Amino acid sequence: MAKAIPRGAYYHHLMAPPTPTDLIHHPYVPPRGFAAPQPGVFKASTVIFPNTATMRARDWKNKNGYTYGLHGTPTTFMLEERIATLEGGKHCALLPSGLAAIANVSMALLKNGDEVLIPDNAYGPNKALADGELKNWGISYQLYDPMNPADLQARIGPQTKLVWLEAPGSVTMEFVPLRELAQVCRERGVTTALDSTWAGGIAFNGFDAGADIVVHALTKYPSGGGDVLMGAVVTRDDQLNLDIKLTHMRVGWGVAANDAEAVLRSLPTLPLRYHAHDVAARELAAWLQARPEVTQLLHPAFEGSPGHQHWRALCGAKEEGSGIDAGGAAAGLFSIVFDECYSMDKVDAFCDTLKLFKLGYSWGGPISLVVPYDIASMRSSRFGPCPYKGALVRFSIGLEAVEDLRADLEQALGALA
Ligand SMILES: *Cc1c(COP(=O)(O)O)cnc(C)c1O
Repeated sequence: MAKAIPRGAYYHHLMAPPTPTDLIHHPYVPPRGFAAPQPGVFKASTVIFPNTATMRARDWKNKNGYTYGLHGTPTTFMLEERIATLEGGKHCALLPSGLAAIANVSMALLKNGDEVLIPDNAYGPNKALADGELKNWGISYQLYDPMNPADLQARIGPQTKLVWLEAPGSVTMEFVPLRELAQVCRERGVTTALDSTWAGGIAFNGFDAGADIVVHALTKYPSGGGDVLMGAVVTRDDQLNLDIKLTHMRVGWGVAANDAEAVLRSLPTLPLRYHAHDVAARELAAWLQARPEVTQLLHPAFEGSPGHQHWRALCGAKEEGSGIDAGGAAAGLFSIVFDECYSMDKVDAFCDTLKLFKLGYSWGGPISLVVPYDIASMRSSRFGPCPYKGALVRFSIGLEAVEDLRADLEQALGALA
């Protein structure tokens, strides 16, 4: 008479010692009905098909089945849907970094003989990709003045197949006239891709602003922990999505399930965190702006910061106050330009003297970060001389207590004396 096998006792029941096959083809199946709001982490390269007919019929392009880990798992499909929802899009593709998301868009839309236009203040590696691989593949690029839609309009030619948009610009934080730039491209029938990492799906909607494709570095606020590298490409148009997905598949980009789950875990607190970073950043920016060592504050929510009126129009600030606009949303990022009497070495010493603020790239995590820049060397001179003479420091405000951060800034400013 067959004896019931107690749970976990399968091996004791075997006639012979277990083989690797017993470890792999184990009969235990966990009970159905485990219900929790948290998503499961599904890790797989191989997906098992019930039979060859299913294997032949299933197509990774429509997301109603699973074919291979690289083409999606329940965990990555769930994150794709959440990010598409966050941005008001229909489709989303996940990439192993924000830069990979940028690269996927350019590779999917451009071919030999085409041209791409990139804002002069774009995220630096986007320009480096155009000047490296894209140029090597026979794709040319031009930089345009992102504050001047007429300049963009004049540069669009018959070979222009893609225009990159970004608001605000990296490091110098100019808030560009995004709607006007997108409109220029729409009228000329040129596809636009917006790097909307700063807005994080919160401060403004990229599609409402007129973009055809919206890219996010999920590495920043959506992850929020400083422990994940990931990117996303969001589209509304089915054909654009297919182009993005075909390149995604052919290049072999995939994301790890544990990373996707980390972002899923962080997304519910994204609006709260974004707001907290914003409030703290505006408080510290206002304090720094009043310091005699600082000649210019670059924060789009502040009057006198380049493109402030465009920020106000797009990010929904309702009231105007003395320097700080009430309402509206902005990321916890800003830059300051030091008086030109302070050398780069002095400004480096200021950064080195900071204790809570750490020196580091990226942003969006709980730890406040600074990066000193010699800004004049980073911008093309063809749009006029760089308006900033002094050294620039970019701040990413984390989630520490604001008074502690202010005290840290105050003690470090002593290093300038
Ligand atoms: C960080 C960042 C990226 C790149 O994201 P990674 O995940 O670090 O590759 C792209 N665009 C902007 C605006 C960014 O801030």
